[in-house]
Amino acid sequence: MSLFPSPCLLCGKAAYDSVCPECLARLSGEERLQRFSLPYLEGALTLFDYGHKSLMPLLFAAKDRGDHKIVLFFARLYAARRNELCAPIDLVTFAPRRKSSVWKNGFDQSAMLSEDFAALCGLPWQKVLRRRGFSRRQHGLAREARMQNAKNKFCVCRNVRGKTILLIDDVITTGATVASCAQALKEAGAAQVYAMALFRGGVL
Ligand SMILES: [Zn+2]
Repeated sequence: MSLFPSPCLLCGKAAYDSVCPECLARLSGEERLQRFSLPYLEGALTLFDYGHKSLMPLLFAAKDRGDHKIVLFFARLYAARRNELCAPIDLVTFAPRRKSSVWKNGFDQSAMLSEDFAALCGLPWQKVLRRRGFSRRQHGLAREARMQNAKNKFCVCRNVRGKTILLIDDVITTGATVASCAQALKEAGAAQVYAMALFRGGVL
């Protein structure tokens, strides 16, 4: 909540928060929680249908510009649903983007999103995963190829033994990336791994 109004991220009307109360009420009516299973994970949860007409443009704006106001708004949507997931979380983390895209954009939106979420929920946050060397872009690859491409792409650089870990991402498409992260975490001794994302499906 700010002292002076600024345009609502969704409708542009003056608002004292990033999104006005009307838009926020409409959004909560449009939420479609989906729980599903993925290899190496105890559970995964997404909040909205892919292609949501007002959230997708925001997601692209966050990806392109790293707009912190948008990222924080998304983090609040996740935080409102943290109890839907599972047992208590010991650590929040994220799947790091390829170095080339972080260099291009100057930020990693999943890092920002997961850190904001953890701060809102009062949970510990740490970067625990690293990308191993070269990996091809997922975009444009068929599902099988994506699964193969994502395999063993991550390594764990912190002690995660016995911990319950929550991976925060923006979109879960095939799930290959989060499954690969979860595999690395499990092999490093993590007790449980969950994932939460805004959307499920689609190809970015
Ligand atoms: Zn609005």
